[in-house]
Amino acid sequence: MSDAATAESRNLRGYPVNEIFHSIQGEGTQVGRPSTFIRLTGCNYTCHWCDTPHTWKMGQIRKPEWQTAEHLLGQIKFRSVVITGGEPLLHDLQPLLTGLGDRHVTIETNGSIAADHEEVSLWSLSPKLASSGHHPDTAVIGHYLSRFPGRVQLKFVIGSEADLAEVKTTLAKVPDARKAAVILQPVTPQDEAFDRETYLDRYAGWVLSVPEDPFWQHYNLQLLPQLHRLCWPHRDGI
Ligand code: SF4
Repeated sequence: MSDAATAESRNLRGYPVNEIFHSIQGEGTQVGRPSTFIRLTGCNYTCHWCDTPHTWKMGQIRKPEWQTAEHLLGQIKFRSVVITGGEPLLHDLQPLLTGLGDRHVTIETNGSIAADHEEVSLWSLSPKLASSGHHPDTAVIGHYLSRFPGRVQLKFVIGSEADLAEVKTTLAKVPDARKAAVILQPVTPQDEAFDRETYLDRYAGWVLSVPEDPFWQHYNLQLLPQLHRLCWPHRDGI
């Protein structure tokens, strides 16, 4: 089959969709923004604490529903669209991005794949730390920061002092990171043990202590909780 025929057959089949839902953005610089989320199946990582294992983990895979770009576009409800996963950059997003036109599009990625879509409003990179079983790819982070200045946020989930130290080491290797929004987010327990008060206490302690480190004077640091977890601690599809 020629390359063109292969691409056509892929476009006809569309995307493996895990879920499409409408909520507020609960993380990062767009927090609170009503958004339509398109969650695609598949990931090239296997993080220990993954909060969406149903998108890739053997035995937990919710069978994806194949949907064409056209079908997906017909379900968009809000101006802001978030394409997430899994790792959405495993798929050819161009037909979908072209159809989304001038909407505000965020791609949430683990920062391991260097992509080049001009249509993307915000590249939300969430590089994985050693505690996940992976390491940040500083070359890929550098690619986005130099190719898309002003359109990148670096979002790190922090569960320990070791995580925080690794974030600093990572940022120090990528000089352009000083120009981007750097978001630190306390890790959220994914089970029934989640307790709002404990989570907020931990977050409040951070707000007082983390910025005291002179390292952060050089960065556009934001300390943010996961808003959607605070609102709906035990619900999926939000
Ligand atoms: S990169 Fe994201 S979706 Fe993939 S395993 Fe890690 S946390 Fe899960």
